[in-house]
Amino acid sequence: MSEAATARTIRAALLEAPNKPLVIVDDVEIRAPLVGEVRVQVKHCGLCHSDLSIINGSFPAGLPIVLGHEASGIVDAVGPGESRLAPGDRVVLTPCPPCGNCYWCVRNEHSLCVNIASLMTNTLPDGSTGLTRNGEPVFRGLGVGAFGEYVITPSTGAIKISDDVPLDVACVLGCAVQTGVGAALNTANITEGDTVLVMGLGGVGMSVVQGARLAGASKIFVSDPVAERRETARKFGATHLIDPTEIEDVASHVISMTEVGVDHAFEAAGVGALTEVGIAATRNGGTIVMVGAPPLSDVVTLMPSLMVIQQKKVTGCTLGSCNSLHEIPRMIGLYQADRLDLEGLITMRRPIEEINEAAEDLTASRGIRTVLNF
Ligand SMILES: [Zn+2]
Ligand SMILES: [Zn+2]
Repeated sequence: MSEAATARTIRAALLEAPNKPLVIVDDVEIRAPLVGEVRVQVKHCGLCHSDLSIINGSFPAGLPIVLGHEASGIVDAVGPGESRLAPGDRVVLTPCPPCGNCYWCVRNEHSLCVNIASLMTNTLPDGSTGLTRNGEPVFRGLGVGAFGEYVITPSTGAIKISDDVPLDVACVLGCAVQTGVGAALNTANITEGDTVLVMGLGGVGMSVVQGARLAGASKIFVSDPVAERRETARKFGATHLIDPTEIEDVASHVISMTEVGVDHAFEAAGVGALTEVGIAATRNGGTIVMVGAPPLSDVVTLMPSLMVIQQKKVTGCTLGSCNSLHEIPRMIGLYQADRLDLEGLITMRRPIEEINEAAEDLTASRGIRTVLNF
């Protein structure tokens, strides 16, 4: 029987108001893990566009908040009776820890688990956050809150990985790779020979490209205004690069290259209007996956008369429709077999103190992923 864990005082990057720089503070209190929870010492955390959307105010969130949801670390303490994880385990954190018992989990739809509400509430599933500062609650951003030295998570939110997988690389599995590769393999269910269009080449879009390659897609069109990103996408498996500032009608271009349109289109830029481009670019009966995270004000227009005849399927996608407990080990297996490139996504590493510079890079579409180190 190990000694009961106690609260810790930690350093964290705190967002106190939208459109303000994050501040590094060293006086956030994090409680000990309860039954069914673990506390993890964060080592690395990627900065994702969803973090940025809260920082710049396009997603409203309770404040102050510790963001960061693409992380890896080492289990520090476990709640009473924990059998799956132990202190010292190396883990990847996931923003959607499946409860295993809800309406969706028992139907194998784990990415719809009731726990996914944590992404919107920025709390733990029970409504608490586990974090306080000067006695006031601090929100736990996007299901993890990993821009702090430690996080509390339901124990299914931490997936153990083996000693030979570097933590500073594995972190990107938590959001970008799980989401993008999962969108290709699980949500769209791409099969060998299919044709694909990916719009937006951030960490998620690049991972959709890799997922499409893994699934054996024959043509992978990518569209992004940044030339460097398009070239990187080629390394991940893109076969046709489109500069949307040059080719105005991306849908017509893609149709001209495939005769009927692509089998699957992905909106991975977080721009609602691109969903309409995806619908136009997809063949009758094809699938359009909305995997970007557009501002709440964005609206998509559908023509019902066309949808009836063309039988296209428009679907949302959170976290790649993944069951993280299965998917993260599966993706690590692909990484170890040299079939999934994680290093190639990470274009910059910075200490947590440089998180505002990392946010500026992401706003300006410089690089793909910046990983913050503790
Ligand atoms: Zn994310
Ligand atoms: Zn569930």
